Amino acid sequence: MNVAVVGTGYVGLVTGAVFSDLGNDVVCVDKDVDKIEGLRAGRMPIYEPGLEELVARNVADGRLTFSTDLADTVRRSDIVFIAVGTPPKATGESDLTAVEEVAHGIAEALDRYKVIVNKSTVPVGTGDLVRNIIERNRRRPVNFDVVSNPEFLREGSAIEDTLRPDRIVIGAPSQQVAMTLLELYAPLERPMIITDVHSAEIIKYASNAFLAAKISFINEIANLCELAGGDVTQVMKGMGLDPRIGSAFLNAGLGYGGSCFPKDTDALIQTAASLGYEFRMLRSVVDVNRERVQRFLGLIRKVLGPLEDQVIAVLGLAFKPKTDDMREARSVELIPRLAMSGARVRVYDPVAMENARRHLSVPIEYCQSSYEAAEGADAIAIVTEWNEFKLLNLERLRQVMRRPLVFDGRNIYEPERMRRLGFEYHSIGRKPAFPN
Ligand code: NAD
Repeated sequence: MNVAVVGTGYVGLVTGAVFSDLGNDVVCVDKDVDKIEGLRAGRMPIYEPGLEELVARNVADGRLTFSTDLADTVRRSDIVFIAVGTPPKATGESDLTAVEEVAHGIAEALDRYKVIVNKSTVPVGTGDLVRNIIERNRRRPVNFDVVSNPEFLREGSAIEDTLRPDRIVIGAPSQQVAMTLLELYAPLERPMIITDVHSAEIIKYASNAFLAAKISFINEIANLCELAGGDVTQVMKGMGLDPRIGSAFLNAGLGYGGSCFPKDTDALIQTAASLGYEFRMLRSVVDVNRERVQRFLGLIRKVLGPLEDQVIAVLGLAFKPKTDDMREARSVELIPRLAMSGARVRVYDPVAMENARRHLSVPIEYCQSSYEAAEGADAIAIVTEWNEFKLLNLERLRQVMRRPLVFDGRNIYEPERMRRLGFEYHSIGRKPAFPN
């Protein structure tokens, strides 16, 4: 099939690369000229394990190309995926400017029947909006259909998730229209569910809101453990083995960040409000998450006292491991507050350092390794649970620090082990450990 993917970000580029790998002719379009030129030269705009090889292979085989010309790409395609960003507005609603822009562009170029697929995360009713824009602005009286096909990939395992999704949701106006997408996805041999367009749009938000709720729930249990003297990691294990609950997204820590959960939870609250419904539970989920960094900062202040001139090594900047994505990363909330309190902040992340420079404007020192960041530090704060940090030589780490103090915002170490190694160790929802 001839496939166009509009928006060459985390979702669009991975989707385009995977569809081309399945044997389709794919053109990835973006309005960002630098991005497209970079991709043509073999430079990936994002870090995603396996992406560079996948793109290179399909470009070399002539199935994957890149363009800035939306009209030309639309004309060559049977299916057009919209995978542009839908960032939050100040009100928490989704900003649909990019989706609307693309819908206008498609309308002008529409020359024969095509299926337009919304892959961006968009509020319920956006399928209707796209349909109306195209209907009103098309130059020729040709038919088209609008389908919702929300994306569930996770950054860091985006290719694997796209090749082996748990489910493929196709929200289509009819079975016949859904068939085009069924055919495209058939080689993956994964479960597919066909719904109406509105339900598909809601499935995406409901899924993200539910996962965010799990995270806030276990974080509240962590707060309770701290007061009652329990261990949240044990509680989580005991809960997670119940198949009705499951252990995924049940880790206490600094809460959720990233480009999806914060904006999607806010957007769902706004969608509900616009329909006259107050989503009370989701409001609490968001409130609990908002308090996480402040609480962690309170712990650091309580233990260290005034932060003036204290050296704090922050390990992990990306919003989660295996990505360089800094959007809504907890580090972006924590580091300026540390710096503004007078702390000297030294940071290290395995892949997000370059992006971090664009997100952090306070003066901080970027280091080449965890050990370099910890050199002479009064404390370490672990913000992202990279595997690399779990495997650190902790003996060596302790030796380079001025004070062997660790604040672990992600519970990556065992308190008893840290005690034995001579650290003062504070984590989330567990008793602190002190060296003998
Ligand atoms: P992104 O910001 O990485 O990429 C979006 C791309 O769209 C950018 O390259 C931008 O230049 C391009 N773009 C914007 N306006 C355009 C236009 N008018 N014409 C052509 N290109 C245009 O975003 P992303 O993370 O890939 O997310 C895309 C959508 O997918 C969002 O709605 C997001 O919520 C959703 N989503 C993201 C993830 C994720 O993990 N990142 C997962 C599931 C769903």
